Amino acid sequence: MTTISPFRPALERALSHALAHLDHLEQQPVGARASLDTLRARLSKQLGDGGTPAAQVIDELAADTAGGITGSAGGRFFGWVIGGALPAALAADWLTSAWDQNAAAYACAPAVTVIEEVCGAWLKELLGLPRGASFALTSGCQMAHATALAAARNALLARRGWDVERDGLCGAPPIRILSGDQFHASITRAARLLGLGTGAVTGLPVNQAGQLEAATLQQALIDSAGAAVIVLLQAGDLNIGAYDRFAELIPLAHRYGAWVHVDGAFGLWANASARYRHLLAGVAQADSWATDGHKWLNVPYDSGFAFIADAAAQRRAMSYEASYVAHSDQVREPADWNPEWSRRGRGVAAYAALRELGRGGVEAMIERCCAAAHALVTGIAALPGVELVWEPQVNQGLVRFLDPTPGAIQSDHDRWTDAVTSAVLASGEALFSNTSWRGKRCMRVSVCNWQTGDADVARAVAAVAHALRSLEMAGG
Ligand SMILES: *Cc1c(COP(=O)(O)O)cnc(C)c1O
Repeated sequence: MTTISPFRPALERALSHALAHLDHLEQQPVGARASLDTLRARLSKQLGDGGTPAAQVIDELAADTAGGITGSAGGRFFGWVIGGALPAALAADWLTSAWDQNAAAYACAPAVTVIEEVCGAWLKELLGLPRGASFALTSGCQMAHATALAAARNALLARRGWDVERDGLCGAPPIRILSGDQFHASITRAARLLGLGTGAVTGLPVNQAGQLEAATLQQALIDSAGAAVIVLLQAGDLNIGAYDRFAELIPLAHRYGAWVHVDGAFGLWANASARYRHLLAGVAQADSWATDGHKWLNVPYDSGFAFIADAAAQRRAMSYEASYVAHSDQVREPADWNPEWSRRGRGVAAYAALRELGRGGVEAMIERCCAAAHALVTGIAALPGVELVWEPQVNQGLVRFLDPTPGAIQSDHDRWTDAVTSAVLASGEALFSNTSWRGKRCMRVSVCNWQTGDADVARAVAAVAHALRSLEMAGG
């Protein structure tokens, strides 16, 4: 008698539903179709006493979520900064769940621990970071910031004779964070989580190119004399992909004793490309860096990376002691570096993505996305009634749609821009998100998906042209 795995029916259903989703993204609307009420009605089932067979649970999940899954895995999702998932990364992510290793410690996850060691070394090499930097594999860039800034807090206060890990922040010397004012909101949340408070973060004006000027930073450093300072620099800001001038600003910040942290959630990946690497000149001199795997590396969600030049500071900030865990001296114990205790072996999917692409493949993917973003933005801007607001330097650009009504003013263009973006979404052909940038509503164009190709760009530009024509006919 052969035994049938209790897992097989559910896993086979999952495979079949996953392929039905991924193989039909081309034909499916990119945005959600099901309403909030519909999704609630379908999904809020009675949690009865009795259970449900596993395969049926999976089939019902697929049915109940239909229309409520956006096409972010596909090539025409250009909203926010959202990557897809490479085939090897997705498959490795499934395997990670099947293995169900607790990546906290070598003792319970030996192979995964080694995979993460290797992954960290590969990433440092690919991103041009110091070989000796320590790292953590976090849930995303938000927690990568929290991890890196915890190390910064430790080191800056230790220099002032304060042990923050033991004594906390009450009575500690003050810490300030200085940044260009286009910083991501994850920075202020990291400041809250670390007890620094949002009041510790000062956003400084940036120049036309979105960069912090040396003179502005220097004045802020002088004004912060007496405080411990973290300077946050941007490797790709969220609206226009602006890069601070690291070679100039990092040595300046260091002269004032500051810790320099780089937010490179997506933009740090430009360092993998010979064509775009110049944007990051000098970035390796920083003290810490945060980036994502789930954006531009195209790893499924739950993939961020923190790197810290001062490994000892990270270890002091994150390491743990517990009588029931055996520390190994031979390997990198993950929980000594991560903010979490138990966690999934999230390095496996990143490892698989890097193996699938190789250095050349990462470089080609980055350059392909930048080329697609450029083609999209210039293609849309060539349509009548479109203003080119930001021509992509990397993979982010901005356009604005001008209300054709005679005498239309800026607020009309703002409304028109939102209306066009909504009409494109309603067409199902592409998805873009909006932003307010330098006082104007704009449609953001972000390309981070390995699948986006020329046909997707052409289809998206045609969808925008069509949305413009139909709105003009309806309203004009
Ligand atoms: C997305 C993003 C973040 C936050 O990253 P998560 O992975 O969503 O936590 C931080 N900074 C920038 C510039 C980003 O684009």
